[in-house]
Amino acid sequence: MSSTLALLQKYSVPGPRYTSYPTAPYFHTGFGEADWVEALATPAPDRGLSLYAHIPFCDSLCYYCGCNMVATRDYSKTQPYLAMLDREMARTAQLVDGKRVAHQLHWGGGTPTYLNPDDIRWLMAMMRQYFTLAPDAEISCEVDPRELTREHLEALRESGFNRVSFGVQDMDPDVQQAVNRIQSELLIQQVIDWSRELGFSSINLDLIVGLPKQSIESFSRTLDRVVAWAPDRLAVFAYAHVPWMKKHQQLIMESDLPDSATRLGLQQAVNETLGAAGYVNIGLDHFARPEDELVRAQQNKTLWRNFQGYTTYKNSDILAFGASSISQTADVYMQNEKNLKRYQERIAATGLAVERGLKLNRDDQIRREAITRVMCDLELDFAAFGSEWGIVFTDYFADALADLRPLADDGLVTMDAGRISVTQTGRLFLRNIGMCFDRYLKQASTDKPRYSKTA
Ligand code: SF4
Repeated sequence: MSSTLALLQKYSVPGPRYTSYPTAPYFHTGFGEADWVEALATPAPDRGLSLYAHIPFCDSLCYYCGCNMVATRDYSKTQPYLAMLDREMARTAQLVDGKRVAHQLHWGGGTPTYLNPDDIRWLMAMMRQYFTLAPDAEISCEVDPRELTREHLEALRESGFNRVSFGVQDMDPDVQQAVNRIQSELLIQQVIDWSRELGFSSINLDLIVGLPKQSIESFSRTLDRVVAWAPDRLAVFAYAHVPWMKKHQQLIMESDLPDSATRLGLQQAVNETLGAAGYVNIGLDHFARPEDELVRAQQNKTLWRNFQGYTTYKNSDILAFGASSISQTADVYMQNEKNLKRYQERIAATGLAVERGLKLNRDDQIRREAITRVMCDLELDFAAFGSEWGIVFTDYFADALADLRPLADDGLVTMDAGRISVTQTGRLFLRNIGMCFDRYLKQASTDKPRYSKTA
Protein backbone atom coordinates (compact mmCIF):
# COMPACT_ATOMS: atom_id res chain seq x y z
CA MET A 1 0.00 0.00 0.00
CA SER A 2 1.37 3.46 -0.85
CA SER A 3 2.04 5.74 2.09
CA THR A 4 -0.43 8.33 0.76
CA LEU A 5 -3.13 5.69 0.53
CA ALA A 6 -2.43 4.62 4.12
CA LEU A 7 -2.77 8.28 5.16
CA LEU A 8 -6.04 8.64 3.25
CA GLN A 9 -7.44 5.62 5.06
CA LYS A 10 -6.19 6.92 8.39
CA TYR A 11 -7.63 10.39 7.94
CA SER A 12 -10.90 9.44 6.23
CA VAL A 13 -13.38 10.75 8.79
CA PRO A 14 -16.60 12.78 8.47
CA GLY A 15 -15.60 16.45 8.23
CA PRO A 16 -16.80 19.83 6.96
CA ARG A 17 -15.71 21.54 3.74
CA TYR A 18 -15.58 24.89 5.58
CA THR A 19 -17.53 27.02 3.16
CA SER A 20 -18.52 28.65 6.44
CA TYR A 21 -17.32 28.55 10.03
CA PRO A 22 -19.17 27.76 12.22
CA THR A 23 -20.59 25.27 9.74
CA ALA A 24 -24.24 25.11 8.71
CA PRO A 25 -25.27 22.34 11.19
CA TYR A 26 -24.64 24.89 13.97
CA PHE A 27 -27.02 27.49 12.58
CA HIS A 28 -30.03 27.52 14.90
CA THR A 29 -33.66 28.56 14.86
CA GLY A 30 -33.14 30.90 17.81
CA PHE A 31 -31.86 33.30 15.16
CA GLY A 32 -34.94 34.88 13.63
CA GLU A 33 -36.24 37.57 11.33
CA ALA A 34 -35.59 40.42 13.80
CA ASP A 35 -31.94 39.34 14.04
CA TRP A 36 -31.60 39.34 10.26
CA VAL A 37 -33.29 42.73 9.90
CA GLU A 38 -30.84 44.11 12.47
CA ALA A 39 -27.87 42.57 10.60
CA LEU A 40 -29.01 44.05 7.28
CA ALA A 41 -29.48 47.49 8.82
CA THR A 42 -26.03 47.52 10.44
CA PRO A 43 -23.89 50.06 8.57
CA ALA A 44 -21.03 48.47 6.64
CA PRO A 45 -19.73 51.20 4.33
CA ASP A 46 -16.44 49.39 3.70
CA ARG A 47 -18.07 46.13 2.65
CA GLY A 48 -19.34 45.42 -0.86
CA LEU A 49 -22.21 43.16 -1.79
CA SER A 50 -22.33 39.80 -3.46
CA LEU A 51 -25.76 38.79 -4.71
CA TYR A 52 -27.02 35.23 -5.11
CA ALA A 53 -30.27 33.88 -6.52
CA HIS A 54 -31.25 30.24 -6.04
CA ILE A 55 -33.34 28.64 -8.78
CA PRO A 56 -34.30 25.24 -7.36
CA PHE A 57 -35.92 23.65 -10.42
CA CYS A 58 -34.38 20.84 -12.49
CA ASP A 59 -35.76 18.76 -15.36
CA SER A 60 -34.58 15.51 -13.82
CA LEU A 61 -32.71 14.17 -10.81
CA CYS A 62 -28.99 13.40 -10.85
CA TYR A 63 -28.54 10.65 -8.27
CA TYR A 64 -25.41 12.23 -6.74
CA CYS A 65 -27.12 15.60 -6.23
CA GLY A 66 -26.41 17.35 -2.94
CA CYS A 67 -28.29 20.56 -3.76
CA ASN A 68 -31.63 21.85 -2.61
CA MET A 69 -33.67 21.18 -5.76
CA VAL A 70 -37.06 20.13 -7.11
CA ALA A 71 -37.26 17.90 -10.20
CA THR A 72 -40.30 18.93 -12.22
CA ARG A 73 -41.45 19.25 -15.82
CA ASP A 74 -44.18 21.68 -14.77
CA TYR A 75 -42.82 25.10 -15.78
CA SER A 76 -45.80 26.90 -14.22
CA LYS A 77 -44.15 26.30 -10.81
CA THR A 78 -41.54 28.92 -11.66
CA GLN A 79 -43.97 31.82 -11.82
CA PRO A 80 -45.03 32.03 -8.15
CA TYR A 81 -41.41 31.39 -7.18
CA LEU A 82 -40.10 34.26 -9.30
CA ALA A 83 -42.79 36.52 -7.86
CA MET A 84 -41.56 35.66 -4.34
CA LEU A 85 -37.94 36.28 -5.32
CA ASP A 86 -39.10 39.72 -6.43
CA ARG A 87 -40.73 40.35 -3.03
CA GLU A 88 -37.74 39.08 -1.10
CA MET A 89 -35.35 41.33 -3.00
CA ALA A 90 -37.63 44.33 -2.67
CA ARG A 91 -37.89 43.85 1.12
CA THR A 92 -34.15 43.26 1.52
CA ALA A 93 -33.26 46.28 -0.60
CA GLN A 94 -35.37 48.46 1.75
CA LEU A 95 -33.18 47.34 4.65
CA VAL A 96 -29.73 47.68 3.06
CA ASP A 97 -27.87 50.95 2.50
CA GLY A 98 -28.71 51.81 -1.12
CA LYS A 99 -25.24 53.22 -1.75
CA ARG A 100 -23.60 49.80 -1.41
CA VAL A 101 -22.45 48.27 -4.69
CA ALA A 102 -22.44 44.61 -5.75
CA HIS A 103 -19.19 43.32 -7.23
CA GLN A 104 -20.43 39.79 -7.70
CA LEU A 105 -23.69 38.23 -8.73
CA HIS A 106 -24.27 34.51 -9.05
CA TRP A 107 -27.20 32.27 -9.96
CA GLY A 108 -27.13 28.71 -8.71
CA GLY A 109 -29.51 25.91 -8.14
CA GLY A 110 -31.06 23.61 -9.05
CA THR A 111 -30.70 24.72 -12.63
CA PRO A 112 -30.89 28.49 -13.28
CA THR A 113 -31.23 27.84 -17.01
CA TYR A 114 -34.41 25.88 -16.26
CA LEU A 115 -35.83 29.41 -16.61
CA ASN A 116 -36.79 30.25 -20.17
CA PRO A 117 -34.91 33.11 -21.89
CA ASP A 118 -37.64 35.68 -21.19
CA ASP A 119 -37.68 34.83 -17.50
CA ILE A 120 -33.86 34.99 -17.37
CA ARG A 121 -34.08 38.57 -18.68
CA TRP A 122 -36.91 39.40 -16.29
CA LEU A 123 -35.13 38.09 -13.19
CA MET A 124 -31.91 39.91 -13.99
CA ALA A 125 -33.80 43.15 -14.69
CA MET A 126 -35.42 42.72 -11.28
CA MET A 127 -32.07 42.32 -9.54
CA ARG A 128 -30.71 45.41 -11.28
CA GLN A 129 -33.82 47.33 -10.26
CA TYR A 130 -33.15 46.70 -6.57
CA PHE A 131 -29.34 46.69 -6.41
CA THR A 132 -26.46 48.57 -8.03
CA LEU A 133 -23.96 46.42 -9.87
CA ALA A 134 -20.39 47.62 -10.38
CA PRO A 135 -19.61 48.08 -14.09
CA ASP A 136 -16.93 45.39 -13.84
CA ALA A 137 -18.97 43.02 -11.65
CA GLU A 138 -18.41 39.27 -11.99
CA ILE A 139 -21.79 37.96 -13.10
CA SER A 140 -21.91 34.20 -13.25
CA CYS A 141 -24.41 31.43 -13.79
CA GLU A 142 -24.38 27.67 -13.25
CA VAL A 143 -25.55 26.01 -16.44
CA ASP A 144 -26.77 22.48 -17.13
CA PRO A 145 -25.75 21.70 -20.74
CA ARG A 146 -28.73 19.40 -21.21
CA GLU A 147 -31.89 21.19 -22.41
CA LEU A 148 -29.84 24.36 -22.95
CA THR A 149 -30.45 26.37 -26.12
CA ARG A 150 -28.41 29.13 -27.68
CA GLU A 151 -31.30 31.47 -26.79
CA HIS A 152 -30.73 30.77 -23.08
CA LEU A 153 -27.09 31.79 -23.41
CA GLU A 154 -28.03 34.87 -25.47
CA ALA A 155 -30.45 35.91 -22.73
CA LEU A 156 -27.72 35.51 -20.09
CA ARG A 157 -25.23 37.49 -22.16
CA GLU A 158 -27.70 40.28 -22.94
CA SER A 159 -28.50 40.47 -19.23
CA GLY A 160 -24.82 41.11 -18.46
CA PHE A 161 -23.59 37.66 -17.43
CA ASN A 162 -19.89 37.31 -18.20
CA ARG A 163 -19.14 33.89 -16.67
CA VAL A 164 -20.72 30.51 -17.17
CA SER A 165 -20.09 27.31 -15.29
CA PHE A 166 -21.07 24.03 -16.97
CA GLY A 167 -21.70 20.83 -15.06
CA VAL A 168 -19.67 18.22 -16.96
CA GLN A 169 -19.00 15.79 -14.05
CA ASP A 170 -17.80 12.74 -16.05
CA MET A 171 -18.00 11.93 -19.76
CA ASP A 172 -17.99 8.14 -19.38
CA PRO A 173 -21.31 6.58 -20.55
CA ASP A 174 -21.38 3.97 -17.74
CA VAL A 175 -20.83 6.62 -15.07
CA GLN A 176 -23.44 8.88 -16.67
CA GLN A 177 -25.90 5.99 -16.67
CA ALA A 178 -25.15 5.19 -13.01
CA VAL A 179 -25.89 8.77 -11.92
CA ASN A 180 -28.79 9.43 -14.32
CA ARG A 181 -27.09 12.31 -16.13
CA ILE A 182 -26.54 11.59 -19.82
CA GLN A 183 -24.74 14.26 -21.84
CA SER A 184 -22.63 13.67 -24.92
CA GLU A 185 -19.31 15.22 -25.90
CA LEU A 186 -21.02 16.85 -28.87
CA LEU A 187 -23.46 18.55 -26.54
CA ILE A 188 -20.73 19.94 -24.28
CA GLN A 189 -18.70 21.02 -27.32
CA GLN A 190 -21.76 22.83 -28.67
CA VAL A 191 -22.51 24.81 -25.49
CA ILE A 192 -18.84 25.79 -25.11
CA ASP A 193 -18.73 26.96 -28.74
CA TRP A 194 -21.87 29.03 -28.25
CA SER A 195 -20.45 30.58 -25.07
CA ARG A 196 -17.24 31.58 -26.83
CA GLU A 197 -19.14 33.02 -29.80
CA LEU A 198 -21.31 35.06 -27.45
CA GLY A 199 -18.28 36.51 -25.66
CA PHE A 200 -18.45 35.10 -22.13
CA SER A 201 -15.11 36.05 -20.61
CA SER A 202 -14.77 32.96 -18.41
CA ILE A 203 -15.92 29.40 -19.00
CA ASN A 204 -15.76 27.09 -16.00
CA LEU A 205 -16.25 23.34 -16.08
CA ASP A 206 -17.27 21.30 -13.03
CA LEU A 207 -16.12 17.70 -12.59
CA ILE A 208 -16.80 15.19 -9.81
CA VAL A 209 -14.49 12.46 -8.55
CA GLY A 210 -15.77 9.51 -6.54
CA LEU A 211 -18.86 8.81 -8.67
CA PRO A 212 -20.11 5.23 -9.13
CA LYS A 213 -18.39 3.17 -11.87
CA GLN A 214 -15.53 5.67 -12.13
CA SER A 215 -12.14 4.16 -12.91
CA ILE A 216 -8.80 5.92 -13.21
CA GLU A 217 -8.62 4.91 -16.87
CA SER A 218 -12.10 6.15 -17.79
CA PHE A 219 -11.75 9.38 -15.82
CA SER A 220 -8.38 10.04 -17.48
CA ARG A 221 -10.23 10.05 -20.81
CA THR A 222 -12.67 12.60 -19.36
CA LEU A 223 -9.75 14.73 -18.17
CA ASP A 224 -8.06 14.63 -21.61
CA ARG A 225 -11.32 15.69 -23.22
CA VAL A 226 -11.83 18.48 -20.71
CA VAL A 227 -8.30 19.84 -21.16
CA ALA A 228 -8.90 19.96 -24.93
CA TRP A 229 -11.94 22.19 -24.28
CA ALA A 230 -9.52 24.61 -22.56
CA PRO A 231 -11.80 26.05 -19.86
CA ASP A 232 -10.61 29.08 -17.88
CA ARG A 233 -11.31 27.43 -14.54
CA LEU A 234 -12.17 23.96 -13.30
CA ALA A 235 -13.81 22.85 -10.11
CA VAL A 236 -13.19 19.20 -9.28
CA PHE A 237 -15.45 18.27 -6.41
CA ALA A 238 -15.25 15.09 -4.39
CA TYR A 239 -18.61 13.31 -4.42
CA ALA A 240 -20.16 13.49 -0.95
CA HIS A 241 -22.09 10.26 -0.34
CA VAL A 242 -24.50 11.15 2.47
CA PRO A 243 -27.59 8.96 1.84
CA TRP A 244 -28.77 9.50 5.42
CA MET A 245 -29.20 13.19 4.51
CA LYS A 246 -29.94 12.93 0.78
CA LYS A 247 -32.30 9.97 0.45
CA HIS A 248 -32.12 9.82 -3.36
CA GLN A 249 -28.41 8.97 -3.10
CA GLN A 250 -29.66 5.51 -2.07
CA LEU A 251 -30.24 5.07 -5.83
CA ILE A 252 -26.46 4.82 -6.09
CA MET A 253 -25.18 1.30 -5.46
CA GLU A 254 -22.51 1.55 -2.77
CA SER A 255 -20.70 -1.38 -4.39
CA ASP A 256 -20.26 0.80 -7.52
CA LEU A 257 -18.44 3.55 -5.60
CA PRO A 258 -14.66 3.65 -6.11
CA ASP A 259 -12.60 2.35 -3.18
CA SER A 260 -10.06 4.55 -1.44
CA ALA A 261 -7.18 3.39 -3.67
CA THR A 262 -9.18 4.34 -6.78
CA ARG A 263 -10.21 7.67 -5.25
CA LEU A 264 -6.59 8.47 -4.61
CA GLY A 265 -5.70 7.46 -8.17
CA LEU A 266 -8.51 9.68 -9.50
CA GLN A 267 -7.23 12.63 -7.48
CA GLN A 268 -3.68 12.02 -8.66
CA ALA A 269 -4.88 11.81 -12.28
CA VAL A 270 -6.64 15.17 -11.81
CA ASN A 271 -3.55 16.82 -10.34
CA GLU A 272 -1.21 15.40 -12.97
CA THR A 273 -3.36 16.05 -16.03
CA LEU A 274 -4.48 19.54 -15.06
CA GLY A 275 -1.00 20.43 -13.79
CA ALA A 276 0.56 19.29 -17.08
CA ALA A 277 -1.99 21.40 -18.95
CA GLY A 278 -0.85 24.50 -17.03
CA TYR A 279 -3.61 24.84 -14.45
CA VAL A 280 -2.75 25.89 -10.89
CA ASN A 281 -4.41 24.00 -8.05
CA ILE A 282 -6.06 26.46 -5.66
CA GLY A 283 -6.57 24.76 -2.33
CA LEU A 284 -9.34 22.25 -2.02
CA ASP A 285 -11.00 21.75 -5.36
CA HIS A 286 -10.37 24.60 -7.79
CA PHE A 287 -7.96 24.91 -10.70
CA ALA A 288 -7.28 28.02 -12.77
CA ARG A 289 -4.83 29.39 -15.28
CA PRO A 290 -1.76 31.13 -13.80
CA GLU A 291 -3.00 34.58 -14.86
CA ASP A 292 -6.46 34.07 -13.27
CA GLU A 293 -7.38 36.46 -10.45
CA LEU A 294 -7.98 33.51 -8.09
CA VAL A 295 -4.35 32.49 -8.53
CA ARG A 296 -3.17 36.09 -8.07
CA ALA A 297 -5.35 36.41 -4.95
CA GLN A 298 -3.79 33.26 -3.52
CA GLN A 299 -0.32 34.66 -4.18
CA ASN A 300 -1.30 37.97 -2.54
CA LYS A 301 -2.97 36.18 0.39
CA THR A 302 -6.29 37.84 -0.29
CA LEU A 303 -8.17 34.70 -1.30
CA TRP A 304 -11.28 33.90 0.74
CA ARG A 305 -13.79 31.10 0.97
CA ASN A 306 -17.56 31.31 1.05
CA PHE A 307 -20.60 29.26 0.12
CA GLN A 308 -19.72 29.48 -3.55
CA GLY A 309 -16.18 28.16 -2.97
CA TYR A 310 -13.08 30.30 -3.40
CA THR A 311 -13.54 34.02 -4.04
CA THR A 312 -11.44 37.16 -4.40
CA TYR A 313 -13.99 39.24 -2.46
CA LYS A 314 -13.35 38.81 1.25
CA ASN A 315 -15.04 41.98 2.40
CA SER A 316 -18.42 41.35 0.87
CA ASP A 317 -21.75 40.60 2.44
CA ILE A 318 -23.66 37.91 0.60
CA LEU A 319 -27.33 38.67 0.06
CA ALA A 320 -28.86 35.38 -1.04
CA PHE A 321 -32.39 35.04 -2.33
CA GLY A 322 -34.57 31.99 -2.75
CA ALA A 323 -35.37 28.80 -0.88
CA SER A 324 -32.49 27.38 1.22
CA SER A 325 -30.06 30.13 0.23
CA ILE A 326 -27.50 31.30 2.78
CA SER A 327 -26.70 34.98 3.34
CA GLN A 328 -23.74 36.30 5.23
CA THR A 329 -22.58 39.58 6.78
CA ALA A 330 -19.33 40.20 8.68
CA ASP A 331 -20.65 38.44 11.79
CA VAL A 332 -23.89 36.72 10.79
CA TYR A 333 -24.97 33.69 8.74
CA MET A 334 -28.62 33.34 7.80
CA GLN A 335 -30.31 30.49 5.95
CA ASN A 336 -33.70 30.79 4.30
CA GLU A 337 -36.50 28.29 4.66
CA LYS A 338 -35.58 25.24 2.55
CA ASN A 339 -39.04 23.91 1.72
CA LEU A 340 -40.32 25.57 -1.45
CA LYS A 341 -43.93 25.89 -0.33
CA ARG A 342 -43.05 27.23 3.11
CA TYR A 343 -40.49 29.62 1.57
CA GLN A 344 -43.21 31.09 -0.63
CA GLU A 345 -45.65 31.35 2.27
CA ARG A 346 -43.10 33.10 4.47
CA ILE A 347 -42.16 35.59 1.75
CA ALA A 348 -45.81 36.30 0.99
CA ALA A 349 -46.35 37.08 4.69
CA THR A 350 -43.37 39.31 5.54
CA GLY A 351 -41.02 39.54 2.54
CA LEU A 352 -38.35 37.50 4.37
CA ALA A 353 -38.02 33.73 4.99
CA VAL A 354 -35.43 33.33 7.77
CA GLU A 355 -35.28 29.70 8.89
CA ARG A 356 -32.15 29.75 11.03
CA GLY A 357 -28.86 31.49 11.44
CA LEU A 358 -26.00 32.34 13.72
CA LYS A 359 -24.32 35.45 15.09
CA LEU A 360 -20.59 34.85 15.31
CA ASN A 361 -18.78 35.67 18.53
CA ARG A 362 -15.18 36.85 18.53
CA ASP A 363 -13.80 33.32 18.95
CA ASP A 364 -15.85 32.17 15.94
CA GLN A 365 -14.39 35.00 13.86
CA ILE A 366 -10.82 34.28 14.94
CA ARG A 367 -11.17 30.55 14.20
CA ARG A 368 -12.91 31.23 10.88
CA GLU A 369 -9.98 33.40 9.85
CA ALA A 370 -7.45 30.73 10.89
CA ILE A 371 -9.27 27.96 8.99
CA THR A 372 -9.69 30.18 5.94
CA ARG A 373 -6.03 31.22 5.91
CA VAL A 374 -4.95 27.59 6.02
CA MET A 375 -7.37 26.58 3.26
CA CYS A 376 -6.60 29.57 1.04
CA ASP A 377 -2.94 30.45 1.70
CA LEU A 378 -1.85 26.91 2.66
CA GLU A 379 0.14 28.48 5.48
CA LEU A 380 -0.38 30.54 8.60
CA ASP A 381 2.07 33.00 10.11
CA PHE A 382 1.62 33.17 13.89
CA ALA A 383 3.00 36.70 14.36
CA ALA A 384 1.00 38.30 11.53
CA PHE A 385 -2.19 36.53 12.59
CA GLY A 386 -1.62 37.36 16.25
CA SER A 387 -1.11 41.06 15.61
CA GLU A 388 -4.19 41.25 13.36
CA TRP A 389 -6.40 39.79 16.08
CA GLY A 390 -4.59 40.99 19.22
CA ILE A 391 -3.79 37.49 20.47
CA VAL A 392 -0.71 35.42 21.24
CA PHE A 393 -1.25 32.78 18.59
CA THR A 394 0.55 29.93 20.33
CA ASP A 395 -1.43 30.52 23.55
CA TYR A 396 -4.79 31.04 21.88
CA PHE A 397 -4.43 28.02 19.63
CA ALA A 398 -2.50 25.74 21.99
CA ASP A 399 -5.24 23.10 21.51
CA ALA A 400 -5.10 23.34 17.71
CA LEU A 401 -1.31 23.15 17.66
CA ALA A 402 -1.44 20.03 19.85
CA ASP A 403 -4.00 18.49 17.49
CA LEU A 404 -1.82 19.36 14.50
CA ARG A 405 1.23 17.59 15.94
CA PRO A 406 0.25 14.09 14.70
CA LEU A 407 -0.53 15.58 11.26
CA ALA A 408 2.96 17.10 11.27
CA ASP A 409 4.40 13.72 12.23
CA ASP A 410 2.59 12.24 9.22
CA GLY A 411 4.02 14.91 6.91
CA LEU A 412 0.77 16.78 6.19
CA VAL A 413 2.01 20.08 7.65
CA THR A 414 5.32 21.50 8.75
CA MET A 415 5.34 23.45 12.00
CA ASP A 416 8.02 25.63 13.50
CA ALA A 417 8.02 28.33 16.14
CA GLY A 418 6.48 30.88 13.79
CA ARG A 419 4.30 29.19 11.20
CA ILE A 420 2.34 26.24 9.89
CA SER A 421 2.71 25.28 6.22
CA VAL A 422 0.66 22.69 4.35
CA THR A 423 2.86 20.19 2.48
CA GLN A 424 2.16 18.85 -1.01
CA THR A 425 0.70 15.67 0.55
CA GLY A 426 -1.20 17.78 3.08
CA ARG A 427 -3.18 19.45 0.27
CA LEU A 428 -5.25 16.26 0.12
CA PHE A 429 -6.09 16.73 3.80
CA LEU A 430 -7.04 20.41 4.03
CA ARG A 431 -10.34 19.56 5.69
CA ASN A 432 -8.57 17.52 8.38
CA ILE A 433 -6.13 20.38 8.97
CA GLY A 434 -8.99 22.88 9.24
CA MET A 435 -10.74 20.59 11.72
CA CYS A 436 -7.91 21.08 14.24
CA PHE A 437 -9.08 24.71 14.65
CA ASP A 438 -12.79 23.86 14.91
CA ARG A 439 -14.07 24.38 18.44
CA TYR A 440 -17.57 23.07 17.67
CA LEU A 441 -16.24 19.80 16.33
CA LYS A 442 -14.24 19.24 19.48
CA GLN A 443 -17.36 19.79 21.58
CA ALA A 444 -19.69 17.74 19.37
CA SER A 445 -20.75 14.28 20.39
CA THR A 446 -19.90 11.62 17.82
CA ASP A 447 -23.39 10.11 17.74
CA LYS A 448 -24.43 10.74 14.14
CA PRO A 449 -22.36 11.69 11.10
CA ARG A 450 -23.16 15.24 9.93
CA TYR A 451 -20.58 15.50 7.19
CA SER A 452 -19.21 13.56 4.25
CA LYS A 453 -15.86 11.80 4.61
CA THR A 454 -12.79 14.02 4.24
CA ALA A 455 -10.91 11.53 2.04
S1 SF4 B 1 -28.87 19.41 -12.37
FE1 SF4 B 1 -27.64 19.94 -10.57
S2 SF4 B 1 -29.13 20.56 -9.03
FE2 SF4 B 1 -30.26 19.47 -10.63
S3 SF4 B 1 -30.38 17.36 -9.91
FE3 SF4 B 1 -28.57 17.51 -11.22
S4 SF4 B 1 -26.89 17.98 -9.79
FE4 SF4 B 1 -28.81 18.40 -8.71
